[in-house]
Amino acid sequence: MTTATQEKQTLAFQTEVKQLLQLMIHSLYSNREIFLRELVSNASDAADKLRFEAVTNASLLESDPDLKIRVSVDKGANTVTISDNGIGMSRDEVIANIGTIAKSGTKEFFAKLTGDQQKDAHLIGQFGVGFYSAFIVADKVTLVTRRAGSPEAVRWESSGDGEFTLEPADKSTRGTEITLHLKDDAKDFADDWRLKSIIRKYSDHIQLPIVMKKSEWDEEAKAQVTTDEDETINKANAIWTRPKSDITDEQYQEFYKHVSHDWQPPLAWTHAKVEGRQEYTELLYVPSQPPFDMFDRERKHGVKLYVKRVFIMEDAEQLLPRYLRFIKGVVDSNDLPLNVSREILQESKDVDAIRAGCVKKLLSLLEDLAEHEKEKYAKFWESFGRVFKEGLGEDFANRERIAKLARFHSTHDASASASASAGVPAVSFADYVSRMKHGQEKIYYVTGDSLAAAQNSPHLEVFKKKGIEVLLFTEPVDEWWLGSLDEFDGKKLQSVAKGDLDLGALADEADKKEIEKTTDEFKPVLDKMKEALGDKVKDVRVTNRLTESPACLVVDEHELSGNLERLLKAAGQKVNTVKPILELNPAHPLVAKLKSSVDADNFAPLSLILFEQSLLAEGGQLEDPAGFVKRVNQFMLGS
Ligand code: ADP
Repeated sequence: MTTATQEKQTLAFQTEVKQLLQLMIHSLYSNREIFLRELVSNASDAADKLRFEAVTNASLLESDPDLKIRVSVDKGANTVTISDNGIGMSRDEVIANIGTIAKSGTKEFFAKLTGDQQKDAHLIGQFGVGFYSAFIVADKVTLVTRRAGSPEAVRWESSGDGEFTLEPADKSTRGTEITLHLKDDAKDFADDWRLKSIIRKYSDHIQLPIVMKKSEWDEEAKAQVTTDEDETINKANAIWTRPKSDITDEQYQEFYKHVSHDWQPPLAWTHAKVEGRQEYTELLYVPSQPPFDMFDRERKHGVKLYVKRVFIMEDAEQLLPRYLRFIKGVVDSNDLPLNVSREILQESKDVDAIRAGCVKKLLSLLEDLAEHEKEKYAKFWESFGRVFKEGLGEDFANRERIAKLARFHSTHDASASASASAGVPAVSFADYVSRMKHGQEKIYYVTGDSLAAAQNSPHLEVFKKKGIEVLLFTEPVDEWWLGSLDEFDGKKLQSVAKGDLDLGALADEADKKEIEKTTDEFKPVLDKMKEALGDKVKDVRVTNRLTESPACLVVDEHELSGNLERLLKAAGQKVNTVKPILELNPAHPLVAKLKSSVDADNFAPLSLILFEQSLLAEGGQLEDPAGFVKRVNQFMLGS
């Protein structure tokens, strides 16, 4: 049989792989030992996959059911070999997995690279390194693998310089064997003791035994000699099954790196054995950095499901709600059937109970951080706040707890720092409520498409004057959850850009009288303006909302805010355009000018300019920008 697969073939890496290798070798130079952690982690995943497939097809275990990872050294040849008897790879899988980068976020990752190695080096950690880390210490890597259940093995070899070769191979045992031909400056890794200490440091949590040949002190030779006996280097039981008091922070962190493929240490974790209607153990981590594709609501989730210590599936999205999709870790159930599928998970009441339990644990963890580790909480909010807030609109059972955890910008922090500098939003609803004025009944907010736009919104003017705090909602997700959350702690959330200005008990009588009086006084102007603006507005009225601006736009209480209307349109949705109400500041000289020129020729263009300015001030787009410029220029020339 002479098919192409019988011959040695040379193939090129995906261009990105080459770039990635260069970057990795450069940036991990001072931490080269992690190559072993990455390869052991892959071997352990391969064993998990085999164990899972063997649940329904026991013949895959062949005559070799004891899964383990072996690490060996050949000092003479300067090689280190990591082998496993896990699932192995077919030829096609080798090409797909080892010659390309199939990770989510790859495109975004490469788009972020600047070409400056120093600057790019720290990005590699966020991306995760995996198999390619072999090239940090090796100038040639040979991988021989045979997929469980298949007779054909394949040999892959590369010097990491852009190409790899593939050829058929003989391999009696199932699984993958990776041989690293050490670089001249990495020969010190060909040392049993060194490798054992690296395994204990990084891979102690790995569930299956990592074996090496036992070394002994030879008194005569005054040296370590390797014997023929095997020894297991790691603890070799699943970390989550061990009592918390037995596990060090470092071990928790190493397990996180294994389970998440993230290189940064996690921000926090929760580990609990739950006994009740459902028996399960959860070990869930909050990462410290958002992944590149976090805002993709369809992105894969990061929780692995085990049933009685047997790995079942990756990205078990049923185990956590979407707004917690950045969480990584494992859930190990004692009750679910081993042959559980995604479809079964979707309909399982047992899974609902596990999910509800995990959410509660995570919310407690976050509450604890918010209260006792404010800096960490700020970091959490900076990384994941935008996603977490989706919970306000989605998890009704826990909405109050989520609302308490939410943080926002407000006019309070703007006045504290007097600048538009962003910083991490830090004002909670509870902070806001504690600062509410005597007699204030509502929680005021404004929405905008940026912090600066919200901070400078004309709608805030009267609130600034009266010293009333307003929350600044500046993210698209805010408009979304506002659709379903309308109060906190019994206090209604009120947009300052919707409805009549209603300050409740905060409005003074004099203000109210003044408005009534000016409304009468301005009646002819208001009528005339309404006529001039026609369809563009629903109404024109005077307001005491403004102190500096001549005019602003508001919408009725139950209509879409201008900001939301723009967001929906930008997202390609069809929405009925809401007609705004134009409100005038009677104390403004421009408005006074209008009042005195009701009968003048330029009344209509001046009215239009006021309307257009108000639209611009809230971030809207003009229907006829060129016309606007023309009208303004005419006024600049004094006509
Ligand atoms: P990651 O592990 O983050 O997916 P890697 O580059 O480390 O990325 O590995 C890519 C893929 O190659 C893995 O997802 C897996 O499918 C496959 N792979 C790597 N090592 C092994 C192994 N020892 N046995 C079986 N498959 C492996």
